[in-house]
Formats: sequence, C-alpha cells, structure tokens
Amino acid sequence: MADVTPDPFSIDTLLAAASTEFGGSVTPPIVQTSLFTFDSYQAFADRMAGRSNDPLYTRVQNPTVAAFEKLVAAAEEGEAAVGFASGMAAISSTILAFVRPGDRIACVEHVYPDAFRLFERIIRPFGIDVTYHSVEAFENDPDLLKGVKLAYLESPNSVVFETMDLARVAENARRHGTLTAIDNSWATPVFQRPLTLGIDIVIHSASKYLSGHSDTVAGVVVSSNALIEVIRDLTLPLLGGKLAPFEAFLLTRGLRTLTARMRQHQETANFFVDRLSAHPHVVRVNSPGPNMAPGLTGRSGLLSVEFSEAVDIPRLADCLNLFRLGVSWGGFESLILPTRIALGQAGEQNSLQRFGVSERAVRLSLGLEDPNDLWADFDAALSASIRP
Ligand SMILES: *Cc1c(COP(=O)(O)O)cnc(C)c1O
Repeated sequence: MADVTPDPFSIDTLLAAASTEFGGSVTPPIVQTSLFTFDSYQAFADRMAGRSNDPLYTRVQNPTVAAFEKLVAAAEEGEAAVGFASGMAAISSTILAFVRPGDRIACVEHVYPDAFRLFERIIRPFGIDVTYHSVEAFENDPDLLKGVKLAYLESPNSVVFETMDLARVAENARRHGTLTAIDNSWATPVFQRPLTLGIDIVIHSASKYLSGHSDTVAGVVVSSNALIEVIRDLTLPLLGGKLAPFEAFLLTRGLRTLTARMRQHQETANFFVDRLSAHPHVVRVNSPGPNMAPGLTGRSGLLSVEFSEAVDIPRLADCLNLFRLGVSWGGFESLILPTRIALGQAGEQNSLQRFGVSERAVRLSLGLEDPNDLWADFDAALSASIRP
C-alpha cells in the first residue's frame, strides 16, 4: 500500500492510523530486554564507534520506546522526541543539557511547583541563575531575555492557568539567542503545537493526558533533530532517566485515543465553566479556552475554581462521590485537589502566594464520566457545603 500523508495535517488520523512498522501487528511489541547482541565483531564495533544506529542498550534506545517517540514527535509536528521515566526527568534532563554554571534561566512565575523546586534546590546551587517573570513581562518586555540562555515557559501555566502569546515570546527569544522550552502537558498537541509557533522545545508530563489512563508515570521531550541529539548524547545516557518499554507501550496505547478524549474533556469543561461562572458562591473560574491565546484551540479538563468565604472546602471535598481526592490529573477519572493542601507544604512559606493561588480554591481534573452526572455530584456537594 502506498504511504498516504494526511494533508492538511490531521492529528486525529495521524494518531489513530494503524502502525505498519511491526508486520501485521497494529500495536508495537513490548521489547522487554536490557541489551541487544550483535552478529559479528564488525557489526558490534561499528555500533560502538557510532557508524551504525542498531539498538545497543535500553538505557539509550529501545524499539518500543522509539515507536512512542515517533508518534508523539509527529503529533507535535517536531522532528524527533525522547522519552523519559517521568515529566520531572524530562524537565531536568532538558535543562541540564543546555545550561552551564554562569548561565541564566528566565522562568514563568506561576510554574509547576516541582519545576520551581528543581530550579531552587538543584539548578541554582550549581551556579545557574534563575529569574521569574509574569506572563505580561514575557510578552511585553523586549529586553527581558537579553543574556538569558533558556526561557522556561508554561502556557497555560500551573493552577492559575494564565496564557501567553507564544509566537511573540519565541520571536523575542530568537532575537536574543535564547532557547525556549515549554511544558505543554495541559493543552496537549491536540489543542496547541508550540513548535509551530516558534518555540524550540516541547516537554510533557506524559503521566497526564498523553497516557490518559492513570496507570503510567512518564515524560517526553519533542524538538528538532539537532536539539534532541544533544539530550540523547548528554543527559539521557548520563543521568539515565529513560522511559521503560512497557510504559512506552502504554503511552502509545494512550495516544491512539488522545483526540477523542480531549474532545470529551473539553465538552465537560465547557459544561462546568458555564455553570460554575453563574454560581453565586463562585468568585472565579480559571479555565482558558480556545482563542484566549494565539494558537490555543481548545479547553482541557483541568481548571481551578475559587469560592466565596461561605463555602466550606473540606466539607465540599468530603461530600463528593464521583470526584476523588488526589494529586495528578489527565486520566479518565475526575479528581479534586484543594490548593490549601496541595501548596501548604512544610518548609515553604507563603507557597500559595508564590504560585498566585488563592487558599479558597480547588483544582478540578474533569474526567470522562457523563458531564451531567459529574455536575449533579458537584452541585449537590457545593450546596451541602455552604455555611449558613
Ligand atoms: C505532573 C506535572 C509535571 C511532572 O510530571 P511527572 O510525570 O509527575 O514527573 C510537570 N508539569 C506539569 C504541568 C505537571 O502537571
């Protein structure tokens, strides 16, 4: 059969089309091996000298992992991808591949809290300066990135979900020779493809929507061949945070239904945003939608809601049945995370303030249950938690 390349680019088709790489098998085999052997001295010597690219050792290369990397690279419209054991392994391996002592990183202010902790507890002590800036500063200050090695971005960012004009930030960065990296876990390539907006590197916590089934912790980085090669040469083998074959198999399985799941998450989020916005005890809903930033084409199921003083948040959480209390997000199941528990960690003073979050807020991950059932559950719990 002739290869048909979808034109115009359709991510639905790309993710759902059967593989032709593995004979008649539409799913990749799980190549559960640590090493690969060679037929001859010469073949082994060629691989060790870099004259061939045959699989050698699963820390650096594995066919099941490669199948996932190829699919996610295509979905993000990137040239190449590299999988990691977690989103944090993907973030740390990307940063440490490109910055050195004396360099400066400019980071979006309301960043994912563990990325902030990575910067403050590991990166800064290595002699790398990290400065934090508002979305407005990234967009409007043309000199913000002067002398900056790497701009670390999220749009929408964490918990408060502020968006930025990525094309504009990428253009500023290019003028200063600054590399740009973005965490695209919230939007996924279904709703935003930052590489097409001029961003250099896309990072995912694949534990969230890419997996979609709450059964995997993983990460992935997508970029140009040249930048992925730096990571493959340096931090993938030497920090060793590789993606496992079985996890890669689960992620490929997840990607097949990503567009269908994202459409359902969006439908439920729209349903909730309409009702929450009209609720007398809701002060604010943080849920960016299509066209709130250039290139953002959809609304995912992760949002936050700030309540009036009358709402007893612990009681609200305890009255819910379909929403479960827990960290993480992006799976089939609906979750609630009160910000006061999430960010009130020991040793970090004013952490709610640091991340721009109200202590009267909760983060909701809307799952794939019927939106009417979810709203009935939420609405009943909210009514039961209003103080007289
Ligand atoms: C969960 C998350 C991460 C970290 O990913 P892990 O897979 O848990 O290591 C990074 N960024 C965002 C926005 C996340 O939600």
